[in-house]
Amino acid sequence: MLSADGQKLFEARYAIRDEKGTVAETFDQAVGRLARTVATAEKEPSQWEERFARIIGELFFVPSTPIWANVGKPDRPWQPAACFVLPLEDSLESVFETLKDTALVFKSGGGVGYNFSAIRPRGFPVRSSQGQAFGVVELLRLYDHAAGIIVQGGVRRGACMGILNADHPEILEFIRAKLAGGLANFNLSVGVGDAFMEAVRENGTWRLVFNGQAIAELPAAEVWEAIVEASHACGEPGLVFLDALQRSNPIRGTVIAATNPCGEVPLLAGESCILGSINLAPMVDAAGNLKEVQLAETVGIAVRFLDNLIDVGQYPLTFIAQTTRATRRIGVGFTGLADALIKSGLAYDSEEGRAWADRAAAIIKAAAEEASRELAREKGAFPWWGRSVYYPDDPRRNAALLSVAPTGSVTLIAACEGYGIEPIFAVAYTKSTSAAGKIEVFSPLFLQECERHGIPETVRSEVARRGSCQGVDGIPADMARVFKGAREIAPEDHLLMQAAVQKHVDNAVSKTVNLPREATPADVDHTFRLAWELGLKGVTVFREGAKPAPVTVGAGEP
Ligand code: ADP
Repeated sequence: MLSADGQKLFEARYAIRDEKGTVAETFDQAVGRLARTVATAEKEPSQWEERFARIIGELFFVPSTPIWANVGKPDRPWQPAACFVLPLEDSLESVFETLKDTALVFKSGGGVGYNFSAIRPRGFPVRSSQGQAFGVVELLRLYDHAAGIIVQGGVRRGACMGILNADHPEILEFIRAKLAGGLANFNLSVGVGDAFMEAVRENGTWRLVFNGQAIAELPAAEVWEAIVEASHACGEPGLVFLDALQRSNPIRGTVIAATNPCGEVPLLAGESCILGSINLAPMVDAAGNLKEVQLAETVGIAVRFLDNLIDVGQYPLTFIAQTTRATRRIGVGFTGLADALIKSGLAYDSEEGRAWADRAAAIIKAAAEEASRELAREKGAFPWWGRSVYYPDDPRRNAALLSVAPTGSVTLIAACEGYGIEPIFAVAYTKSTSAAGKIEVFSPLFLQECERHGIPETVRSEVARRGSCQGVDGIPADMARVFKGAREIAPEDHLLMQAAVQKHVDNAVSKTVNLPREATPADVDHTFRLAWELGLKGVTVFREGAKPAPVTVGAGEP
């Protein structure tokens, strides 16, 4: 069932090993382990065990890495969540307490996000020691170092998200923190509200504030241009739109100020979230039609699987277990959107392609909500339901249900080409290797289509040489329309796809807008403004050749 790459990943990361470290579990056995363990939360485990095993065994639904790596194993805590946000307050106790908590979360296989805005800026007085505060950027470096030395379950380094709000006095240093390299374990984002975006739009002034006190005033454009330039140069910081996060915060009287490392789950401090992805490729039939009934059925079972994990799972810290079980937030998402679109003959950067994604996401949302309501009737609503926007008319089992993750490992298991919501990486390219000299690398989906159309080697080589099949003689127009790599898709089309899906996603969507090497700061500026206008929750750009790259998660990680 698994592809060769999937099998490699499975053995390296997920399989049970014996005391000598030898792989001691097949993929089917691991599916059985998850299905059996998760079904123990049911009154009638056997029928659910069979359903869980079916959707996972067929690769219709792929649970995220910590579930495979931890749950049901005899020798480790059953920690199921990939995403955490931890609190950070302006005291020595808090920052070192949170550093320790971070280590425990990393050890359990999760990634952590923080909002650093409560931390007093560098150089501010510290009364108790008569000294000066170390500030946000120095603290970031400390956290980054810690993330680098804690290797998760022997397989991957920690991944973190650091957010600083645009009105923090250290914001300019934060924005430029990655320009000189370093901070390799962090993704950085500036937290911006609508007030900041309006100040930028109206060319107004902007106040830097700490503890309610104005510290400095400067043109909003100065902060904005610093963000745009740094992002153009090194892909960071991204933006997190704080008001958009807050508008979809289901729990009244709370503030959501941060997301997990790749941005797909906004969380309360101390909350965690369990992820799993629907594989969209097999949801398209041979005639190119979406199998709507099967998609909805798979989502319903997946919701139950993730919801059970909240009870079966074991959390690294008591306060995380409490908050997580109070909201019961889960994230059902998808991978292989690109594969499904190609199978349907639709271009990623077209109205029809977006309508397809919109429809699939709407079906996933409706099925997830129905399953969560059904679970509420059967097992009770989430404990904070009474404090939520769903009270009193809409009892649900989960405060939030949907999230589109980067699916770095999930995609390899599912044997898809397109990660999460992303288009395929490239149609073809050439690369130099020391062993074989120049070699041509093709998108497997493109190659399949070439075989089907009987496209000759010479034409394929020309595509690899150009890195594109647009305008290449011998490539049918219909094929050229559908086969475009990430860099061939205009930034607007990346954002429009994100917006089409985000509409149906109560958590968030992890997405990178790829820009060509020659893109200018003005292109980044335009992309960021459009993301805000579209009501997205966050945006990250990556210009080809920009350095250093953002934290890569998933398969390629050491
Ligand atoms: P998967 O391995 O399940 O395919 P994803 O690539 O979808 O995981 O990432 C989902 C989330 O898992 C990330 O947003 C992050 O919160 C967490 N994560 C991924 N990689 C790492 C890592 N190296 N260290 C810590 N957390 C990670």
